[in-house]
Amino acid sequence: MYLQKAIMASVFIAGLGFVNANAQAKHEDTEFYTPVPIKVTPGKTFADAPSDAIVLFNGKNLDQWVMTDDRTQPAKWIVSDNILTVDKKTGNIETKQSFGNYQLHVEWRVPQNITGEGQARGNSGVFLASMGKGDAGYELQVLDNYENKTYTNGMAGSIYKQTTPLVNPSRKQGEWQTYDVIWTAPTFKADSSLNTPAKVTVFFNGVLVQNNFILKGPTQYVGTPSYTKAHGPLPVKLQAHGDKSQPVSFRNIWIRELPSTN
Ligand code: MG
Repeated sequence: MYLQKAIMASVFIAGLGFVNANAQAKHEDTEFYTPVPIKVTPGKTFADAPSDAIVLFNGKNLDQWVMTDDRTQPAKWIVSDNILTVDKKTGNIETKQSFGNYQLHVEWRVPQNITGEGQARGNSGVFLASMGKGDAGYELQVLDNYENKTYTNGMAGSIYKQTTPLVNPSRKQGEWQTYDVIWTAPTFKADSSLNTPAKVTVFFNGVLVQNNFILKGPTQYVGTPSYTKAHGPLPVKLQAHGDKSQPVSFRNIWIRELPSTN
């Protein structure tokens, strides 16, 4: 009987404590006023660069770009009619500036007179982080997949040879298409081993095709990808693919740097 009373008393006290904790809580406790999010003016459409974006290509010049294989050389692709067209014989180009986490907008178009098939039809790519010469880095594939079969993890909207796009929202050749990418760069420990892997979300023509996909490492054409080299912020790279089909064009490329979340 005594024990039962003691238990009841302790329950009562514990209950009282719980009530008291809530009674002391104020609504202000869970309302944050700083830091205030920076005010950003959105574009007229989702494709227009917002006010805090770094414009990487605005149709006028390639001032923000260099040749990947020799970064002392200005980018040599063709700028005409506000459009950037791949010059396959010159090689890949990449941004002068390096980026960690970011939001990226890219528009691209496969030419109307495209020929070829499979991977040899409108192949280019957006390397979300360039790891140096050639195709080293993490490739978001660009390809004509309106009516063109290839391996699914090599389609437009794929993280090349790692994951298939959730759907195929490809537009016809000759029509402009959009990529909107949220890139979370990998982080590495002091001993250069992986801390957190890269993650990517991709909207292709406004449709979600990669939902916070965790990358296995940089793109590997042959073999299994893995994180073998630690790195910090890196340039964004565009691919001059070596196939014989007519070259892909780009326009309206902008990026917004995002804070580190890792
Ligand atoms: Mg490619």
